[in-house]
Parts: sequence; structure tokens; C-alpha cells
Amino acid sequence: MPLQFKNLNVKYILSGAEGNTITALNNISLKINEGECVSIVGESGSGKTTLALASMKLLSQNAIMTGSVVINGVDTSELSSEEMRKIRWNEISIVFQNYGDVLNPVHKIINQVAEPLIKNGESRNAALDKSGKMLDYMKIKTGRSMLYPHQLSAGERQRVLMAMALITDPKMLVLDEPVASVDAITKLYLAEVIRKQVNLGKAVLLITHDLSFAALCSDYTVVLYSGNILESLPSEELLDAPRHPYTRALDRSFPVMERAKDLAGVRGAPPSQTSTPKDASSSQDVHNQSMSV
Ligand code: ADP
Ligand code: MG
Repeated sequence: MPLQFKNLNVKYILSGAEGNTITALNNISLKINEGECVSIVGESGSGKTTLALASMKLLSQNAIMTGSVVINGVDTSELSSEEMRKIRWNEISIVFQNYGDVLNPVHKIINQVAEPLIKNGESRNAALDKSGKMLDYMKIKTGRSMLYPHQLSAGERQRVLMAMALITDPKMLVLDEPVASVDAITKLYLAEVIRKQVNLGKAVLLITHDLSFAALCSDYTVVLYSGNILESLPSEELLDAPRHPYTRALDRSFPVMERAKDLAGVRGAPPSQTSTPKDASSSQDVHNQSMSV
């Protein structure tokens, strides 16, 4: 079982008033097998990126996590930073949602894509050769791989991140909004790339606000709402027969034109995610009442 979340809860401690927290994930259990792609869809703030970061053990310092993330049968909470560093990028890699934070503005992209290979002990020449080929595979035109991130289009930068995630040939891929800023043709190509990875036996966790992309790439789709799994359904049913009214609302709220951001919220009153230590015991009740959107 490559990637499994078991009863995962994540809260963030908020600065300001003492003891205030926000619940980002509430008792999430999910498995992604080899050769399987599972999509996570949900509006902005529903906890998607928190799930992605938890899978890589990269949650911010103010996060409190309980439950477990299991990679290849190993509970990652039992791994030291050094052990986790060995797994990261080699066994499991990620396309981060915000590429601005990931790409180094002062290094050429070909060098940045080659970096994990060099860190793994490959010679610089061999690593650069593989990096060039991977960028070519990601349809970055020859010559443009020598450019700096700011010289590329948003779509190209997105594909550079995908190249970085694939370069070490990891068994698991976590893709957080990999098509947020790409055109329709590139989106279809990236769907093809993802399906190929799945067919090669990879386990892929695909986070997207784009339900049609989820349907193209994944076997199963999980709908997150306010940190809870609301519905889990075969992706082919996602657009045709979503069972839950919230999923139908998500589908309707998806803009027809390409957009580079998360979905706006869907009408209805989400439960307050914030809690103080005082009202922590009652937050679940409030939540359950307001799930019928
Ligand atoms: P999504 O990716 O679905 O938009 P996130 O996982 O980014 O959702 O966020 C889930 C919730 O956790 C949101 O309410 C967000 O404001 C909150 N959150 C995320 N990261 C932090 C953080 N580092 N500190 C405090 N709150 C956070
Ligand atoms: Mg996000």
C-alpha cells in the first residue's frame, strides 16, 4: 500500500488569542494503491493543501497532527527528519500549489530540475542530460530550459514543477493544483502524462479544483468539505452523477474559462472551523448539523 492516511486530524494554532485553533482536516482516512490516481476536490480552504503537505511531512510549525500518514507500510511520524528526507523526492514527490515559493529565481530551470539527481549522487553532466530530456518531455522548448523562472510563462513554470516531481521517478506523486495556470491543450497533455505515470504503477494523489481534470486523470475522487470527506465516488460519476448536493454545487461553480485560482466558496453556511479550547467539544455537533448544504 504506497500511500495511506489513517484517521488524520490537522489543526493549526492561530496567532493572536491564546489557544485558538482552526481545524483543517478532520479524521481523514484514505488509501492510494499502486497504479491508482485518487483526486481530491473541494473549495478553497477545504484542507486540500494541508493533506498534500501532511503526506510529505511538510506541515508548518503551527500545525498539530494526529493519526498517521503511512508510506509503503511505514508510519512517517516514526521517521526522523533525516529518514524522511531520504524518502522525500525519491519515494514520494510533490508539485506544490504555489510555484512562486518553490522555483529559485536565480537558478536556470535546467539546473533546478537536475538538483535532486545531483543530491542523490549522480554526476552533474548525467543529471543535466536527464533534466533536459525531462523538460523536453514536459514540452519546454529546447533553449528555454536555459532560462530563469521569471522568463517563463505561468504554464511553463507549472510544467517545470511537474518535471521536478518526475525527475527522480518516485513511486508516489502528490500533485497540488498541477493545472492551475495552463491552457486547455497543455491540460490534456498533463492528463496524458499523469495517466502514463499511473499505468507505470505509480500512486498519484491529485488535488485539483477542476472536476473535469479529476475525471480525466483519476480512478476515484474524494470530495473534501471543511476538512471532512463528504463523498468518495468513481471519477467517471463525478460529472455525470454526483450524489451529494455539495458535489453538484461544486460542479456548477466551476468556471468555464481557464482560471488560475481555487474555486470560490459554494453557497451555504459552512460550520465554523475555528474553535477555542472552551467550545472544542461541541464543534463536531455543529459540523454535522451543517453538512446538509
Ligand atoms: P485548500 O488547499 O483546500 O485551499 P488549505 O489546506 O490550504 O486548504 O487550508 C485549510 C484551512 O487551514 C484553511 O482554513 C486555511 O486558512 C487554514 N490554514 C492553512 N495553512 C495554515 C497555516 N499555516 N496556519 C493557519 N491556518 C492555516
Ligand atoms: Mg490549496
